[in-house]
Amino acid sequence: MSMTPLEEIRHSSSHVLATALLRIYPDVKLDIGPPTDTGFYYDIDLAQTLTLDDLAKIEAEMKKVIDENQPFTRKEVTREEAVQIIKERGQERYKLGRLADIPEGEKISFYQNGEFMDLCAGSHVRYTSKIKAFKLLSIAGAYHRGDEKNKQLQRIYGTAFASKEELTQHLERLDQAKLRDHRKLGRDLKLFVVDDDVGQGLILWTPAGSIIRQELQNFISDELRKQGYQQVFTPHIGKLALYKTSGHFPYYKESQFTPIVENESLNQILKEGCSCAEMTTRLDAVSAHFRDQMNARTGKETITADRVKADDQLLDGFMLKPMNCPHHIKIFASQPHSYRDLPVRLAEFGTVYRWEQSGELNGMTRVRGFTQDDAHLFCTEEQVAAEVLGCLSLVKIVLTTLGMTDYRVRVGLRDPDSNKYTGDSANWDKAEAACRAAAQTLGVAFTEEPGEAAFYGPKIDFVVKDVIGREWQLGTVQVDYNLPVRFDLSYIGADNQSHRPVMIHRAPFGSMERFCGVLIEHFGGDFPVWLSPEQVRLVPISDKVSEYGNNLLGQLKAAGIRATIDEHSDKLGAKIRRSEIDKVPYTLVLGAKEAEALAVSVRSRAKGDEGVLPFASFLERLVSEVKIKHSRLRK
Ligand SMILES: [Zn+2]
Ligand SMILES: [Zn+2]
Repeated sequence: MSMTPLEEIRHSSSHVLATALLRIYPDVKLDIGPPTDTGFYYDIDLAQTLTLDDLAKIEAEMKKVIDENQPFTRKEVTREEAVQIIKERGQERYKLGRLADIPEGEKISFYQNGEFMDLCAGSHVRYTSKIKAFKLLSIAGAYHRGDEKNKQLQRIYGTAFASKEELTQHLERLDQAKLRDHRKLGRDLKLFVVDDDVGQGLILWTPAGSIIRQELQNFISDELRKQGYQQVFTPHIGKLALYKTSGHFPYYKESQFTPIVENESLNQILKEGCSCAEMTTRLDAVSAHFRDQMNARTGKETITADRVKADDQLLDGFMLKPMNCPHHIKIFASQPHSYRDLPVRLAEFGTVYRWEQSGELNGMTRVRGFTQDDAHLFCTEEQVAAEVLGCLSLVKIVLTTLGMTDYRVRVGLRDPDSNKYTGDSANWDKAEAACRAAAQTLGVAFTEEPGEAAFYGPKIDFVVKDVIGREWQLGTVQVDYNLPVRFDLSYIGADNQSHRPVMIHRAPFGSMERFCGVLIEHFGGDFPVWLSPEQVRLVPISDKVSEYGNNLLGQLKAAGIRATIDEHSDKLGAKIRRSEIDKVPYTLVLGAKEAEALAVSVRSRAKGDEGVLPFASFLERLVSEVKIKHSRLRK
């Protein structure tokens, strides 16, 4: 395995970290320490829980190891010798498992620096002194091999760069990121909450957060209407049979909530003394008729014989929907279609539920329930290219409006050497060409990634860079030849024959939760005026102008502006400060002079003190700023 020079520095730093750890904590059991995109980590098993103070101590020891200028030397060994070395060093708990991961016939190597020796394929810097700039950052829990069933280890994160300057820059960016953390801002600005009684990973949108989401949804809906989409609504659950047809169940069971079994069926099988294991196989099972139908449609053994059970053994239930597609498909299939009706574009802000391991939940960006900005397009072969293009132009409009102009796209193509893909290769070629051509028209960087397609068709992913340079994967556009077959969809062509439509799935922003989480960090909470939960705050200097203030409040509200008035009795400075903390775009200070002149003293988040303006002209300017969805970022 070869690493870039930076990866070598980072990975070597993790060896140095392990060296220092063993000096301070001789009992520490080491797991692995790879480089990452932004640094390195080492997973360790240690009885005592490390604190940030401990990190400082470990860092100091690492500096000593670096100053000792130890060379990294490589040693190739046989498997038996490797076991021997690991045992001698008392590291068998995890390292033997890591050794077992190395396939037979592959070289086994250790790298040594000073007294420390680690099972490792390399590569490394030549001397520890080549590590010029590093820092330990944090400690987090991490399950051994990422599996919740395994022991939780301590993961020590650090980073390293070729120069001190780059390290300083990176640390500054991290501080920026901390200030922008959507979990912190979400709490401070009261945008959303997660409550343990409701459940982790389930977002409660508070009134302020709901305004942002609603504004975004309205904006996206307006664009969708212009593009000929039709709005639909579908329920949050569907019968298991539906997902057996789509293939989402039982194949993706691990990432879904457990099915809901009806009371009557549940009582019945309990009476029969059915075990949990039996219940599961009966839920997974299908009838012979269903199996035959599906296999005939797909032209291969899509459903294997072991899943078939007698009709009286079948157990049905409901599922919290993991995807909106099957519901939309049923709407499409509910009436006959002619080629003249196509494309049919069905859009829904559809809420779906996925089972994420609790360790992976993270604010709004990793959740268990989320609302996709979903749509499914049903079109003819010939329409695929234009429809993919339409999806991309929609994304472009929204991202541009939000000032997120730094993004790239990834086009996921099939791996030419693999046969895991469904559908015939001529269709694939056409769909891939369409995706590629569509990506080209965007005028932004795109990469083609063979082997990254979904098994049913090529896809396009969006990766957005925020103001501090972090990349966020948002949603996708996917071309699908598979579900139309599984659901036996058809339309009547110009030749009067029945044809199979092609489906396009697209959720360009992924989900409202994730997208809003990214937006909170992108704007650092300073939302553009059109998205701000509170757009204007009126601050009367004294009770004497209270009437004037409330009069303006009425006018602002009548003009559709979200405004409040701060009639607390504290000092003007405190009120202005509070408005700043709440990130209100405009604070209007009202005194006797302003009241007399029907004016307002404007303090804007973007420009600071703007002086006194006639209220009417301020209102006019504000209304137009909201209307054009100005997304100026605060400097
Ligand atoms: Zn190594
Ligand atoms: Zn879909």
